[in-house]
Amino acid sequence: MSVPRIGLGIDVHRLGPGRRCVLGGLEFDCPVGPLGHSDGDALLHAVCDAVLGAAGLDDLGSLFPDRDPANADRDSTEFCADALRRVRAAGLRVASLDVVVECDLPKLAPRRPELRARLAELFGLAASHVNVKGKTGERVGPIGRGEAVRATAVALLVDAAD
Ligand code: MG
Repeated sequence: MSVPRIGLGIDVHRLGPGRRCVLGGLEFDCPVGPLGHSDGDALLHAVCDAVLGAAGLDDLGSLFPDRDPANADRDSTEFCADALRRVRAAGLRVASLDVVVECDLPKLAPRRPELRARLAELFGLAASHVNVKGKTGERVGPIGRGEAVRATAVALLVDAAD
């Protein structure tokens, strides 16, 4: 068995009114949503960077620059598909994912099972090997005041043959 590879990804997006609220590839009924050039899905961006990082590949911002109009309002699940393609081309597979999302809104807890299932689907692994935790900012700082969302993800990759 080869040595597993671990990757870390962190992403922050400001939250603002009138934006579609998409996190983890799911839409939330919420008065605020993540601002960004793409759909602003901080959760998926953090996971993509963790996966790409573990594979020793370029990061999301380099692969999909926000100055490229092709990425405007882009569905971040497309970034996941691309990251997974690159990982597989490198002879690797995603073995597990763990994510912490910090935000005041939306409330993630009621949809954790859906978030796990969605991430499992997007990265080709069992939902039992994916976890998503939601934390509030305890009213401290921009996250606690509901001004931003931050996602932190770790990914474990192994050789596709293992
Ligand atoms: Mg981002």
